[in-house]
Formats: sequence, structure tokens, C-alpha cells
Amino acid sequence: MAKYRDLILEIIKASSGHMTAEAIYLEAKKLQPSIAVGTVYRNLRLMTEAGEIKRVVMANSPDIFDISTHPHAHLICQKCHTIADFSISNLEEHLQKLTGLEILGYDLNVRYICNICKKKGIG
Ligand SMILES: [Zn+2]
Ligand SMILES: [Zn+2]
Repeated sequence: MAKYRDLILEIIKASSGHMTAEAIYLEAKKLQPSIAVGTVYRNLRLMTEAGEIKRVVMANSPDIFDISTHPHAHLICQKCHTIADFSISNLEEHLQKLTGLEILGYDLNVRYICNICKKKGIG
């Protein structure tokens, strides 16, 4: 099993650090033609549970798996679906003050149109 975990980690690292399960499977199959789709999904689940990767739930598209597990927000282009990381300093602290609750984490997806798509002028 460990070899598949390493394979999956390498694949996500080689991308922008964010991939859907399907994209990971397609890449894995190129490198390891005998790999089954169930194996990829099972490993992704185990790796998420172990905190090695983070599952990010998307509103209108398949969930993505994120190589970066520290708290951060995402900028998501609404045209090409490119995902970029950004962090807001002290956001957890701020939320904690605002709510008076102990914040364990957050998911923040910011929608925008990236410069490349703006130039193309699609949509
Ligand atoms: Zn774009
Ligand atoms: Zn991310």
C-alpha cells in the first residue's frame, strides 16, 4: 500500500498541489497501468484520514485533494478552475474573537476570474 501512497503524493506534488480523484487516477494509471480506480480512492481516503493530504469540498465541482494541510484559503478561477492557495494571517484568531468559540479550522474558497481567462475574454 505504501508504494501507492508515495505514487499519489508524487502525482499531487507534480501538479499545482490540487487535484480531483479522477485526475489523480488518470495520472496514476499512466505510471502504474495495473492500478485500479478503487485502490486510488481508498488510498486517498486513508491519506486524508491520516492528515497527509486535505480534502477540499467544492460547491459545483468534484472535491479536490490538497497537498498542503496547513490552514489556508483558495482562490478559484470560475472559468478554468485553476486553484491557488493564499493565507490570511491570524484568521483563526480573528474568528475566535468574533464568535467567542474555539475554532478548529475553516474552509474558504474565494471565486474570481484569473488574468489569463480575463485576457481570453471568454464568457
Ligand atoms: Zn482562469
Ligand atoms: Zn490548497
